[in-house]
Amino acid sequence: MAGEAGEPVIHRHAAGPGGALVNAYLVETGGGVVAVDSTLTVSDSQALRRRVEGLGKPLLAVLLTHSHPDHYGGLTELVASDDVPIIAVSGVNDTVRRDDEVKEQILRPMFGDEWATRRTFPNQTVADGATVTFDGARFTVMDIGPSESPYDSLWLLGDDARTVFLGDQVYNHMHAYLADGHYERWLSTIDRLEAEFPTDATFYVGHGEPTSPELLDWQRGYVKTFVNAVEQADFSRPDAAKKAVVEQVKRYLPGDELQFLMELSIDPAADQMGAA
Ligand SMILES: [Zn+2]
Repeated sequence: MAGEAGEPVIHRHAAGPGGALVNAYLVETGGGVVAVDSTLTVSDSQALRRRVEGLGKPLLAVLLTHSHPDHYGGLTELVASDDVPIIAVSGVNDTVRRDDEVKEQILRPMFGDEWATRRTFPNQTVADGATVTFDGARFTVMDIGPSESPYDSLWLLGDDARTVFLGDQVYNHMHAYLADGHYERWLSTIDRLEAEFPTDATFYVGHGEPTSPELLDWQRGYVKTFVNAVEQADFSRPDAAKKAVVEQVKRYLPGDELQFLMELSIDPAADQMGAA
């Protein structure tokens, strides 16, 4: 049910560990559903589609936050045969299409048939600051460029900057993917988001429970810890170096959720920093 005051209701669809713990969101209005992102695997995105159908309202649009495959890989199953806009800023659209073949090479061996054979891409692009409205729900996009992924954006619901679909600019106490190498940009984004959003905003993040802008500082610490650990490790002994990085990052975040993403990032990061 949409809220009594006609306010949209936000449903979080959280994948399990086999689907990289990724969140997609369904924003339910009185007469329809707008999805923000999809999931990684075929089975998670089929479950997401069933959830749309369970609401008994048409899918009106899909909004994409960023270019990573755990967020766009499930678009095919989510959209099914619906002819709906799949909307992203141009930078996200271009990057998803550019990198998809590389993602296929990486993800097919890891996920087999659970990585969609046919991927679906955005079919409508918008400029920074554009607003799109579906059944009275207004979504405004903020183009932030390369940050956590090769191209990122945020979607704000409503006009008070308090309901924010943040993509992966913050992971809620999970390990992060840092292989794309835009550490400095990511840290500047964190500064910008701290300045931009009120402390009582809700961040609907790509991994983990919804959170608040307070978590930006934690994310800043995580990125810095990882970068420092890679810089300090001695990659003339690669296995020991990798182990040292993992140990240092896990002192900052002892849990192991999405640890494989952080581990996958060590070699590329070492190459990018010239540490290897
Ligand atoms: Zn993600």
